[in-house]
Amino acid sequence: MSHEPAIDLSPDVHDEVKYTTCYMCACRCGIKVHLKDGLVRYIEGNKDHPINKGVLCGKGSSGIMQHYSPARLKKPLKRVGPRGEAKFEEIEWDEAMAIATDWLGTIRATDPKKLAFFTGRDQSQSLTGWWAAQYGTPNFAAHGGFCSVNMAAAGLYTIGGSFWEFGEPDWDRAKYFMIFGVAEDHDSNPIKTGMGKLKARGSKVVSVNPVRTGYSAIADEWVGIRPGTDGLFVMALIHELLHADKVDIDYLVRYTNLPWLVIQDPGKADHGLFARDKDGNPLAFDNKAKKLVNARLPEVVPAIVGEVRLKDGRKAVPAFQILAERYMDPQYSPDAVAATCGVKAADIRRIAAELAEVAFEQTIELDIEWTDWAGRKHDKVIGRPVAMHAMRGISAHTNGFHTCRAIHTLQVLLGSVEVPGGFRFKPPFPKPIPPGQKPAGKTYAPNTPLGGLPLGFTTGPEDLLLEADGTPVRIDKAYSWEAPIASHGLMHMVITNAWKGDPYPIDTLVMYMANMSWNSTMNTKGVMEMLTDKDPATGEYKIPRIIYSDAYFSEMVAYADLILPDTTYLERWDCISLLDRPICEADGPADAIRQPVVEPDRDVRGFQSVLLDLGARLKLPGMTNSDGTPKYPGGYADYIVNHERTPGIGPLAGFRGKDGEKFGRGEPNPNQLDEYIKNGAFWHHHLEPSQKYYKFANKDYLDFAVHMGFIGHADQIVMQIYSEPMQKFRLAAEGHGPNQPPEHMRERLKAAFDPLPIWYMPYEEELVDTSTYPMHALTQRPMIMYHSWGSQNAWLRQILGRNKLYISTVKARELGIDDGDWVRVTSHNGSIKVQVKTMEGVNPDTVWTWNAIGKRSGSWNLAPDAPEAKKGFLLNHLISELLPPRDGRRYSNSDPITGQAAWFDLRVRVEKCEPGEEVSEPQFPTINLPVGLDPAPTVNRFNAGGKTRKGVR
Ligand code: SF4
Repeated sequence: MSHEPAIDLSPDVHDEVKYTTCYMCACRCGIKVHLKDGLVRYIEGNKDHPINKGVLCGKGSSGIMQHYSPARLKKPLKRVGPRGEAKFEEIEWDEAMAIATDWLGTIRATDPKKLAFFTGRDQSQSLTGWWAAQYGTPNFAAHGGFCSVNMAAAGLYTIGGSFWEFGEPDWDRAKYFMIFGVAEDHDSNPIKTGMGKLKARGSKVVSVNPVRTGYSAIADEWVGIRPGTDGLFVMALIHELLHADKVDIDYLVRYTNLPWLVIQDPGKADHGLFARDKDGNPLAFDNKAKKLVNARLPEVVPAIVGEVRLKDGRKAVPAFQILAERYMDPQYSPDAVAATCGVKAADIRRIAAELAEVAFEQTIELDIEWTDWAGRKHDKVIGRPVAMHAMRGISAHTNGFHTCRAIHTLQVLLGSVEVPGGFRFKPPFPKPIPPGQKPAGKTYAPNTPLGGLPLGFTTGPEDLLLEADGTPVRIDKAYSWEAPIASHGLMHMVITNAWKGDPYPIDTLVMYMANMSWNSTMNTKGVMEMLTDKDPATGEYKIPRIIYSDAYFSEMVAYADLILPDTTYLERWDCISLLDRPICEADGPADAIRQPVVEPDRDVRGFQSVLLDLGARLKLPGMTNSDGTPKYPGGYADYIVNHERTPGIGPLAGFRGKDGEKFGRGEPNPNQLDEYIKNGAFWHHHLEPSQKYYKFANKDYLDFAVHMGFIGHADQIVMQIYSEPMQKFRLAAEGHGPNQPPEHMRERLKAAFDPLPIWYMPYEEELVDTSTYPMHALTQRPMIMYHSWGSQNAWLRQILGRNKLYISTVKARELGIDDGDWVRVTSHNGSIKVQVKTMEGVNPDTVWTWNAIGKRSGSWNLAPDAPEAKKGFLLNHLISELLPPRDGRRYSNSDPITGQAAWFDLRVRVEKCEPGEEVSEPQFPTINLPVGLDPAPTVNRFNAGGKTRKGVR
């Protein structure tokens, strides 16, 4: 009888469990981290957490290997060799902070805008933006400008919020779900679980995306649209709905500005603006009283069509009439747009009919009593169970702002915003439209705070940040005529502009978690050259100083002069704040913390604490007491608990007040973090049923929102389908008003700043020869990776260690390309060599690949010949941050309204390569491993190498 070794079927997996928040993507799920012998041993979803309700994805589970990555930086570094070679010496924190204080103190005392402070995917923008304001530089933004600002801004300027952090489909009641331009990214676990609910109930899922991966792969219908044409497709749906009289007029009258009268006086300074009474209230024509009235009064029965005479004799029409005339025009018919969109006219008609049928024949009625903003009681909420979601695939085009507005317009016409079964806002949204905060930076001065936050919402040319000579105040040209509504800045332009000295040279670039010499930049090779380029007159780098903070040896590290090593997400305090990018549910606000579940085993510090320390050393007002001592000596945790943005409102909304019994508003609670930890590292408030729907017009909700500090007053938030701020910029372009754009920009502004959604050809497609570059090229986010963080993770690399270029089988055959061939892909900006994979589920005019898999040889402590470096590739080399010349000028490759980086406008040609070495191109010299990092083990698995060095590999 053989004796098998005993198997322990219930091993102790932990001796301690700590609650915190995942950071393996932007979704911010609650997690339980199991620790054994002081090591992170296992990560589990927190089933009580409002975001993920226990669900943990592959990325989240693999956080262990992120935490123990051999690419972790260990100590502050000072550059000792040429930029780009990663030659550093290790220094102590005192020296690092003294260097940073010296550099930044000198700039602050002379010209604070010469500090450009830009962060990547950090989740502490409420702190970093406030820090920039206290320092006094207008040059701050996070990565939103190159991610999805079109989505965010379009929503905030139209309905008071948008998708993802702003709102969510009613997963429990929606019967028809349209998802646009989403592979598998932002809001990851909630969408997966939500789509699971839809599929289980048999709701129809329609995915509009040139590529059938991720969510598209499980959709009931895939619309393989041609990139950059989604707006036109949506306008054709609107065309069909209007012609079929399938729009919710009652809803439009109650909740939107479509009945408001628009002045019709072409050529005059107020043409296209709303007609207003002497108090500034918009006017409507009351069909009952037969007269002009304040459109915001509750009992008005407004006309939605028909020309009226204003008191001064001029004509005006309701905005709805302008909308109807526009989209009922034959140019938006399915037949007219089908070829451009690559979608059959019959399919567009059918989808429009399906939307109408679900919205108007499958209505949901819930017996919920609620009170509207005017105090009127209602005993029901009516749901139109069509829900929508859109993200970066829609945003990242030069026509993306209008496309996002078109999607919101479609939702509103169906009456499906903020109703059961539709799209529902997550507090603190909806906000007033647009939110009241203007960008600060019109004035700036040495040793002086900015007087407001650097990012905000312009409502007309008077809000732009321009010098007296009309040049942009900001280094990225946000809030200039190049990007008037640049609510998140233009991070993709910072290095190029700073290198060119356009609009001015800077002194120091501070970046955090932004891999700007590789996968987070356009024109990667060009940017690397700019980072190392010197002024021949002085011998100095054109961007003289670069300070960079990151937890890992990313490609960007090699290009910095001073490295401030960050902790991993399991070693830090953090807050997921309502002041920042919230994680709420439609049914109630929530926020959360990260706590250090393990202490760092390296000489690293959380960047947020470093920033507060730096602020105190620089004597920044908000970070220094009157006696000159630091205001937050306990670092970020101290700030999270004790900082008040306005009296009673701080980074965390839960457990406020001295004894922790208040929420929203209340004095700081010294035990707040302990209370969060006891509660599973989050706080969640559940709205009353009477507060849950029509939040923009619901008295109980609006009062609650005022109490919480979400909004300043409880007035109805009227959805702005017709956008007056857009018309104000257009009027300026037509020559009206004191704030005038440069002559060469007038036509572009006139065309782009339409008060209703429009579609125009993406700029790159318009400017290149499309017979030379006949195809579109895109990236998609893989389900198992979050940018370059994930593609260095030992577990996740096993799932996807290299990328290929995907092309439709039909197109490959046409081009004489076989599966596995190597091809050359060329754009107006460059050329790459890559291996192809053929597939069925892709628009035939489109090639695509996974985002951020390719790595530079030697970076991230991967082997120099790692598949990511030798076989993988970046599409970024092909994408230019500048458009091809137009009239001798090169504008940024951005949406002309928001400055959103137009990653997905890329046009290419694909040609089969001659057989040769099977290595992707371009290749760059291998980056040296910085001093202090040990070479990664050959086999990098959990605890594989034992404790040959501090930590586990
Ligand atoms: S979805 Fe994102 S935040 Fe949630 S577990 Fe996965 S990686 Fe973590």
